[in-house]
Amino acid sequence: MLIHERNDKIWEPMKSNCSKCSGLCCTALFFSKADGFPKDKVSGQPCINLLNDYRCKIHPQLEKQKMKGCIGYDCFGAGQQVTQIIYQGQTWRDMPNRATEIFDVFIMVFKLYQIRYYLTEAMLLIPAQPLKNSVQSLIEENIKICQDQPGNILSFDLEQYRHRANHILKQVCKLLPQSVHSEGKKVPANFLGGNFKGQDMSGADLSAKLLIAANFEKSLFNGTLFLGADTRDTNFKNADLSEAVFLTQGQVNSAKGNRQTKLPYHLDYPVTWK
Ligand code: SF4
Repeated sequence: MLIHERNDKIWEPMKSNCSKCSGLCCTALFFSKADGFPKDKVSGQPCINLLNDYRCKIHPQLEKQKMKGCIGYDCFGAGQQVTQIIYQGQTWRDMPNRATEIFDVFIMVFKLYQIRYYLTEAMLLIPAQPLKNSVQSLIEENIKICQDQPGNILSFDLEQYRHRANHILKQVCKLLPQSVHSEGKKVPANFLGGNFKGQDMSGADLSAKLLIAANFEKSLFNGTLFLGADTRDTNFKNADLSEAVFLTQGQVNSAKGNRQTKLPYHLDYPVTWK
């Protein structure tokens, strides 16, 4: 079963590169200790562990210290785009009077990159080829606004853009299960903590499902939709996710797995997967 067209280069801008960022996620976002961050904090306040050079003081110990929120978060590459391209290497520390603007731009670009990620995958899905031109034009619009001046980014009508992107993504999703099975697969209403070890989940629509702590060890996910699914502590050890659809790096980072888990080619193994 092959539903993805391979294109390594196209994913590069959506891989987060913390060495080219300025600690934006560790500063701009609101955190709660209950969600696996070091301490409750408001947006715009740097994390207590953020060093002056924007590295994390406890990065090698994140797993040991159970910082699941930090491990799970992924910015889709928005951080380096804002730091290096939009602000040309100038950071919120260099320009404290523009810090709030920079954080607001980061949050907006993060949301746009998240949509770009899904659209990029949609464009590479072989069954969705008839919609390729519509998807491509939404991606081009996204790339353009994410290179624009901060004022234009902040005044961009995100909701209207999201509405158009969702409309296309829904059409793409409708094409997929039919390509894997003759009809969409029925899935349980509740996955929370359930045992689905070794099950064939191919063609299932798990979009927005709470898969928290469910056991999918050795399960198969060809063409399975993961759009917005909550995969915190979901067990994917020895599972085959290589042809899963709309699975993100953040979802993978939040889940449990190992080096025998098969991932979509554009996602990386989290350091916690041994
Ligand atoms: S602990 Fe490290 S990774 Fe987590 S928010 Fe703080 S600086 Fe960022």
